[in-house]
Amino acid sequence: MKIENSFKKYNNNQKNEMERVCSGYINFLNKGKTERECVKEIIKQAQAAGYKDIVSVIKEGGKLSEGDKVYSVCMGKAVALFNIGEKPMTCGMNILGAHIDSPRLDIKQNPLFEDGELAFLDTHYYGGIKKYQWVALPLALHGVVVKKSGQIVEINIGEDDNDPVFCITDLLIHLAQEQMEKKGARVVEGEDLNILIGNSPAEGEEKEAVKANVLRLLKEKYDIDEEDFISAEIEAVPAGKAREGGLDRSMIIAYGQDDRVCAYTSLLAMLETESVYKTACCLLVDKEEIGSVGATGMQSRFFENTVAEVMNLMREYSELNLRRCLKSSRMLSSDVSSAYDPAYASAFEKNNVAYLSHGVVFNKFTGARGKSGSNDANAEYLAVLRDIMDKNEVNYQTSELGRVDLGGGGTIAYILALYGMEVIDSGVAVLSMHAPWEVTSKADVYEAAKCYKAFIKNA
Ligand code: MN
Ligand code: MN
Repeated sequence: MKIENSFKKYNNNQKNEMERVCSGYINFLNKGKTERECVKEIIKQAQAAGYKDIVSVIKEGGKLSEGDKVYSVCMGKAVALFNIGEKPMTCGMNILGAHIDSPRLDIKQNPLFEDGELAFLDTHYYGGIKKYQWVALPLALHGVVVKKSGQIVEINIGEDDNDPVFCITDLLIHLAQEQMEKKGARVVEGEDLNILIGNSPAEGEEKEAVKANVLRLLKEKYDIDEEDFISAEIEAVPAGKAREGGLDRSMIIAYGQDDRVCAYTSLLAMLETESVYKTACCLLVDKEEIGSVGATGMQSRFFENTVAEVMNLMREYSELNLRRCLKSSRMLSSDVSSAYDPAYASAFEKNNVAYLSHGVVFNKFTGARGKSGSNDANAEYLAVLRDIMDKNEVNYQTSELGRVDLGGGGTIAYILALYGMEVIDSGVAVLSMHAPWEVTSKADVYEAAKCYKAFIKNA
């Protein structure tokens, strides 16, 4: 089977459309470097496209019917959008799902300490990272501090050109003989991921004067005390903007493309689609990187409860109708795929791996070893999707994560599949997945958006 490089197929109009999609995507990446920031931006864009908060519809005693657009937010970290279709909900929905959390370093609840007259913030990493990749690069701090009064203080330091940035130090090569002989997993250990945050002592302080100075600045600038870290969620992420990559500007290099590349393209497809036959849903969730746990992860009842609310507002709700709706739905569970990397060719099997710029990716299954932990999509469903993609001229490829027996991973697909709906893993190929800076192809971003639009119109 030969799959072509998408760039070969584009005429000027398509190239312009690709650039339009990608500049929206780059803007989204720069606005959303945490799940909370993503949700804020998603709501802003959804409102501009005519979506209403379901809470206000319920409060006003309103109804939902064909053509209405609503969204529901879970704890500011997950969001579901619905575009009500012509058909009753019991005929099922077409669902686009992706996650908006990304690997990063979370600041601990008692993080601040001083050693060698340097002040540090202690971290606990989130998601799968190669720890050695996170030292000696500029970091920004994003998040919230919630005071006992309930007041939320937003933190965003390190993105503006005038902001300071932070870093984790590394040992100089001249003294690294012992370190360099360690296994990769131990070259830098989790407990050593401490963010350098200050070096100047507070005036008139004797003990831990540098830490005292950091606390003084936190009080002055944000009105927060050391205890306020207890109720804070602050994430250290690579500082800097998403950029075009390559001399030919064919790629995007940015932090957090897993899985905001699928989240943004799913959102875009949703917001740029007016009327639909079956109700369309876009589900953008948190906590995928740590197993989809918690109230804002895919395993929570948030989604099911929200569908129940939507059906209730449509005067269609009953327990049985809800089950029928979920069972009859179809989903593209989108997450990034590992792209073939010639530097690590032996990690892949060349005929069943995604290639950068070869289009949107379908993974019939994921999982590890004998497909453990996978959602294995039905051949019948794949046949339907092939037909939709071909009719809508979407360039697509199929893929496995890597060489059999080498490793593996899972997504949110198996959780939705529990309802008996048809679900497949799909998404965009990424180089250097989970590294501070990940690489995607502009053509793949564009093909993903095309794929999602074709899906919600035709599935
Ligand atoms: Mn992912
Ligand atoms: Mn991931």
